[in-house]
Amino acid sequence: MPTYNDGVMIVLSSPSGAGKTTLVNLLSKLDNFEISISHTTRQPRPNEIENKDYYFVSEEKFKRLIQNEEFLEYAKVFNNYYGTTRTPVINKLDNGKNVLFDIDWQGADQIKNKKLDYKLITFFILPPSKEVLFERLSNRDMKDKLIVEERMKQFGRDVLHWINYDYVVINENLEKCYSKIYNLIKAEISNGSKDYDPNYIRSHVEKLTS
Ligand code: 5GP
Repeated sequence: MPTYNDGVMIVLSSPSGAGKTTLVNLLSKLDNFEISISHTTRQPRPNEIENKDYYFVSEEKFKRLIQNEEFLEYAKVFNNYYGTTRTPVINKLDNGKNVLFDIDWQGADQIKNKKLDYKLITFFILPPSKEVLFERLSNRDMKDKLIVEERMKQFGRDVLHWINYDYVVINENLEKCYSKIYNLIKAEISNGSKDYDPNYIRSHVEKLTS
């Protein structure tokens, strides 16, 4: 039975290339914050560590987990399955840990719709401009033009989900973006005042989508 000592669920989503994974890793260094480790059917990247970055599983195993209703949420993203198993998350929350979720908008929607008895704060991270995003994606994908073009198109679709999040934060400068998120989490947990300007965000999104 959830109580006020329980941890808080903190979701970070973003279009590819907005810097969300770095932010999640920084936040996880805070006392009492832990990352929810997802299952995925995608192949590990060279720098990724099994059981730390993801639980890498076969499609067969993933489908078994779906059938056994072990997922709190799951989704297909870029042709691979990704999902969050329920038990480890609930155990962490019941032990007072704040849980960070690096998941896409589909997963965020599912968690929101579950209306669990734990506090949920959702963040959508956006790049400062389409030009900066293009640059970041070009560096990351070793100048593979086709991948970059596909991710830019995907960005146009993903950005539309900003409206379903509690807060949209622009990642122009990593430290400032981190502080913004940190302060909003602190304010949410302590019911303090929030430094957040929805009109500014709305006009930023209009620029990104025009
Ligand atoms: P990547 O393959 O780059 O690690 O992740 C691709 C996308 O899948 C990212 O937007 C990431 O946030 C999302 N993702 C990672 N784990 C999960 C998960 O457990 N559930 C959902 N719905 N999305 C996830």
